[in-house]
Amino acid sequence: MKNIDIITLFPEIIESYISSKPFVKNISPKVKIKAHQLRDFSTYKNRQVDDKQYGIEPGMVLMPEPLSNAVDFIEKKRKSICYKVLLSPQGKLIDTQLINDIYNKPDLIFVCGRYEGVDERFIEEKIDLEISIGDFILSGGELPSLLILEAMSRLSPGFIGNEQSIINDSFGNNFKSCLKGPVYTKPNDYKGRKVPEVLLSGDQKKILEWRKEISRDRTKKRRDDLIN
Ligand code: SAH
Repeated sequence: MKNIDIITLFPEIIESYISSKPFVKNISPKVKIKAHQLRDFSTYKNRQVDDKQYGIEPGMVLMPEPLSNAVDFIEKKRKSICYKVLLSPQGKLIDTQLINDIYNKPDLIFVCGRYEGVDERFIEEKIDLEISIGDFILSGGELPSLLILEAMSRLSPGFIGNEQSIINDSFGNNFKSCLKGPVYTKPNDYKGRKVPEVLLSGDQKKILEWRKEISRDRTKKRRDDLIN
């Protein structure tokens, strides 16, 4: 079983997610997740973990020692060198390939930044990869960590019961780098909007052709960047 240790100033954010029903049902049988309070690793007075940024801009930065101590503690406990990821808007942009890559690493450590971020020297010393979840700024790395966790869990064998639904997702094997397109359920007629005839036909070949076509069209319309 894979261990994922998350270093954060707000373990309660992680804990509330990992105690939620979908998580307990689908993810916890495959990965062991533990949130660590960064302050527990401070050797400063009052469990201080951050200080003013050097230079001329305002803002606090997480100091390197507590972060480094936390990593050392976890690796000692796991008796292994973990793959260490820092969540950062300056990191590599997340996509299916990247999720796959880190899913295939053994034990993982996620480091959640806060405030102005983390001291660069900690990154140089310990971090294997910085990951961004998009070109916007959040207040901390907790939600990005959970986002990666949930995306990874879908790659885990047996995760949602039906493996078919994974390869049939947008970006899944059947759709490569394409969007999947629309899906429908009952009723057949919703306020005059009808389910496309072909889906009711039961003709597998026709349905597959329709899927391919509509996936291509939608991707072209919405995400032209994916086509190339
Ligand atoms: N001053 C930094 C941003 C700090 S945001 C800068 O300009 O680059 C505070 C923390 O939130 C970051 O350290 C990171 O852990 C997290 N974070 C914010 N936006 C993120 C994003 N797009 N992807 C991943 N983590 C992010």
